[in-house]
Amino acid sequence: MTTWQNEIKNSISSSAAIADELGCITDDISSVIDQYPMRIPPYYLALIKKAGQPLYRQAVPDTAELDDPMGMEDPLGEENLSPVPNLVHKYPDRALFLVCSECAMYCRFCTRKRKVGKQEMIITDKTISEGLNYLKHTPEIREVLLSGGDPLLLADDRLECILQRLKKIPSIEVIRIGSRIPCTLPMRVTPELVAMLKKYHPLYINTHFNHPAEITSEAKTACALLADAGIALGCQTVLLRGVNDSTEILRELFCKLLAIRVKPYYLFQGDLTRGTAHFRTNIETGVGIMQQLIGRVSGMAIPTYALDAPGGKGKIPLTPDYITSQGKTLNFKNYQGFPCSYPNVTYEKNRVG
Ligand SMILES: *Cc1c(COP(=O)(O)O)cnc(C)c1O
Ligand code: SF4
Repeated sequence: MTTWQNEIKNSISSSAAIADELGCITDDISSVIDQYPMRIPPYYLALIKKAGQPLYRQAVPDTAELDDPMGMEDPLGEENLSPVPNLVHKYPDRALFLVCSECAMYCRFCTRKRKVGKQEMIITDKTISEGLNYLKHTPEIREVLLSGGDPLLLADDRLECILQRLKKIPSIEVIRIGSRIPCTLPMRVTPELVAMLKKYHPLYINTHFNHPAEITSEAKTACALLADAGIALGCQTVLLRGVNDSTEILRELFCKLLAIRVKPYYLFQGDLTRGTAHFRTNIETGVGIMQQLIGRVSGMAIPTYALDAPGGKGKIPLTPDYITSQGKTLNFKNYQGFPCSYPNVTYEKNRVG
């Protein structure tokens, strides 16, 4: 068995193990685990012991998960937007294809908490074939996002089989993989995996780091292996109360990501997923943080702060407002709050085309 498979085998999944490992009173988290599975690999457990609360909160169940009556099972309306099971076709030119039901660690704030890691999420050869068949017959889809669960938890040959079949569909121009593996199980990124992946360019990987303490030398090595194979890396961070809802933490996270060759792509407002209310901040908090960051750190380190609108209406960028008034001149303020203006006219004569 390889190192990463051992990590999965030795991951902890019971409240007794939490009590043993972290020596804390865990109330009644076994009833939470019955509903929403827990899995923490030894690698991430060691990080929790070092960094404490912000990492603990992401991985260890909380009884608050069972006390969220306003939450929704499927806030993004994914099931309604699935022409075949486990394939979400929401936007005209791209589709989300769920190819693995498991993750290396089950994040307590997961948007797909209703099914990830549970019996309810059934992925079989048949659902994979149905998904591929839909993609083959829907040529307006130019980009496929593999997600789950975590696609990089599949065995190399199983993942390669899916990539091979995607590559044969002429209308698919780009493949994107969403994976938290570089953060939660970086030893999974082996030279063999990377050698396989690089055969399927243009390939993008969007990973998921939420806190600077997650950027370890192991994570850096995993990202370097992927980047050296020409795989462009992005990061989809979730804004989480008590984890990263501060300008200082996110500034450090985004700058550190850039330094390990990962471009911050999205900062997500928390979805209305049932069992995650205790993680949610309000939107003003997020906009305020973005306002503090824009102009003060490299533009390369700035993600788009976005809300994935309830009911499957799509992602909405939440940008601080810089325009203060519009008339013959456009008045706005710069990142420091200083006023400036620009003539709001169109020079028809000089227009091209
Ligand atoms: C987020 C998402 C995408 C990708 O959106 P981008 O803005 O291109 O990153 C595609 N399909 C679904 C269903 C999604 O939720
Ligand atoms: S890695 Fe992603 S899909 Fe898996 S539990 Fe975490 S948020 Fe959910």
